[in-house]
Amino acid sequence: MKKGNLSINSENIFPIIKKWLYSDHDIFVRELISNATDAITKLKKLSLAGEFTKPEGDEYKINVEVSPKQKLIRFIDNGIGMTEEEVEKYINQIAFSGAVDFIEKYKDKTNEEQIIGHFGLGFYSAFMVADKVSIDTLSYKEGAKPIHWVSDGGLEFEMGEGNRASRGTAITLYLNDNCHEFANEFRVREILNKYCSFMPVEIFLKDIDAEEATEIIEKDELLESDTVIETIIEPAKTEEKEKEDGTKELVEIEPAKEKIKIKKRPVALNDIHPLWTKHPNECSDEEYIEFYRKVFMDYKEPLFWIHLNMDYPFNLKGILYFPKINTEYDSIEGTIKLYNNQVFIADNIKEVIPEFLLLLKGVIDSADIPLNVSRSALQNDGSVRKISEYIAKKVADKLSGMCKTERDKYEKYWDDIAPFIKYGYLKDEKFAKKVEDYILFKNINDKYLTLSELIDESKNSEETLENSSDETQENAEEKKEVEKTQIFYVNDVKEQSQYVNIFKSAGKDAVVLPHSIDVPFISTLEMKRDNVKFLRIDSDMTDDMRSEEVAEDTKASYDKLSEKVKTALHNDRLKVSVQLLKSDEISSVITISEESRRMQEMMKQYGMMGMDPSMFGGEGETLVLNANHPLVKELLENNHEDLFDMICEQFYDLASISHSPLSPERMSTFIKRSNELMLKLK
Ligand code: ADP
Repeated sequence: MKKGNLSINSENIFPIIKKWLYSDHDIFVRELISNATDAITKLKKLSLAGEFTKPEGDEYKINVEVSPKQKLIRFIDNGIGMTEEEVEKYINQIAFSGAVDFIEKYKDKTNEEQIIGHFGLGFYSAFMVADKVSIDTLSYKEGAKPIHWVSDGGLEFEMGEGNRASRGTAITLYLNDNCHEFANEFRVREILNKYCSFMPVEIFLKDIDAEEATEIIEKDELLESDTVIETIIEPAKTEEKEKEDGTKELVEIEPAKEKIKIKKRPVALNDIHPLWTKHPNECSDEEYIEFYRKVFMDYKEPLFWIHLNMDYPFNLKGILYFPKINTEYDSIEGTIKLYNNQVFIADNIKEVIPEFLLLLKGVIDSADIPLNVSRSALQNDGSVRKISEYIAKKVADKLSGMCKTERDKYEKYWDDIAPFIKYGYLKDEKFAKKVEDYILFKNINDKYLTLSELIDESKNSEETLENSSDETQENAEEKKEVEKTQIFYVNDVKEQSQYVNIFKSAGKDAVVLPHSIDVPFISTLEMKRDNVKFLRIDSDMTDDMRSEEVAEDTKASYDKLSEKVKTALHNDRLKVSVQLLKSDEISSVITISEESRRMQEMMKQYGMMGMDPSMFGGEGETLVLNANHPLVKELLENNHEDLFDMICEQFYDLASISHSPLSPERMSTFIKRSNELMLKLK
């Protein structure tokens, strides 16, 4: 046995490594499986180059063995293996000096988060969980001798001839006392599923202490690779039957059968050809859905997906799914799993995936993402930025393409994808430009319109007005430049149904913007497009809502009543206005100026809820009494001094109710007053 000292100077290396990697101890599994995969990939390449011929029946694979009794875990591959010189070079010198480099690089950084996946520690990560580690390896090279290497403590090693009989490498970790969990089959299966589900070489896991599982198969199902335990003769099946003469006889209904008990065929844990590695033309919808279910455990079907597939100028493959979301719940959380050559790295790395895409679910695999650097370096990495831009562009292209060529489908999905697209619109300038024309607005008649369609629609309805006036073409052009198109919107169809009805009966359009993202969205849209102005449906009674102009003296009587009502309500912040509306069914409504309402909403969003809400109560509100309604008419004509105050309060409460629920105090007063009013019938 040759003895040696690992070329590590620092005595303190272990405490540092262990501390560093404490948060995810299980990473050593990924590192050792990655090395095993590399060893097999190298051999595959040699085979392609004609420098190696794989014996028949020899399948490339990685076996992971655990033994709870011996407290060990072992990784066995049938890859390239190592000669004595290679162990000396790659393990004794490179791997260990790699560990030193690693420590040098990261010892000053106190935030573990800064290392993505801790790539680059490789073989040495075995010492995170085991003090004693051994390597048994046999190179594929002809005449190579098996090598046994062992290090107890990670600072010194012994190495000499070993007894491995077949090509490849076995790495055995004798687990530390506090790491025995890694000898547990279920724990290891969990880790393998996490990191290795899509690695390109088949991985098998076995508990070598457990009794071997068996299965019974038909004789003709036997494969050459099966290990036969015994042959079982199943006796013939018979049935008692009555003969014509009344006596009974046994009749054979199934002949005797030979069955075979075999060692349970091992099943690979991973899918070595995950869907994203295939060409989009070769994948069916069923496969995409099935893959989605398996990876994201989401049994709701995704709406649609985008298969990314590019080789130049960087290598990137992946599938992004638009999940079916429930817009009633505000938080939408997606998962983007990042892989490097089919090796799982981490979920949701903001530096690589544009933030707004993290609302989607998907997988991205790129060998071009430098994974062994810190997050801050990633942010400044040009190729990472390009990747991120490419992904955002692909998503925008898919959306615009769908809107242009499959409008029906696009409209069907719109309600589900709208929050996501609007979020992207807010977060990403370039994305915003690309999708702006493909953002849809659902109107109160369930029709979907783009912004320009909406503007055209409202222009068309104004055109008749414009044509009737004798403005010159020039004037009209000039006017258009400063003219803002007003777009009315509803954010709660039920709460604002009263207004929706007024709009519908006046033949006016409004769009439905129900999600909390819509508030910042329309503000941003107004900033970018200075030709539109969004107004909530209850913000004003527009001219279209009102009947023909009223005569001066009628107007004076309206104003007089307004004054009286205002005095009766004792609310300085509230405006009161009597108007002749087209509808005669509504007695009173409340309108809130758009500015005040957005202010109030912002206050709420910024958590100023702790403030006394009455501070804002009535701010910017107008109580509109409809002079077309019989009750208001009555008040205009007769004084009703005794009931006046009560009726005014009732108007105000009724208008408030159709707006939002009353506070408990106001509600009980309202009920009491309603009863009192009914009593007046006596
Ligand atoms: P890295 O994988 O980043 O190069 P490692 O420390 O993990 O660093 O491994 C060092 C080297 O040891 C590898 O580059 C490889 O040449 C060799 N090696 C490690 N594991 C195996 C294995 N299972 N089979 C063959 N060679 C291996």
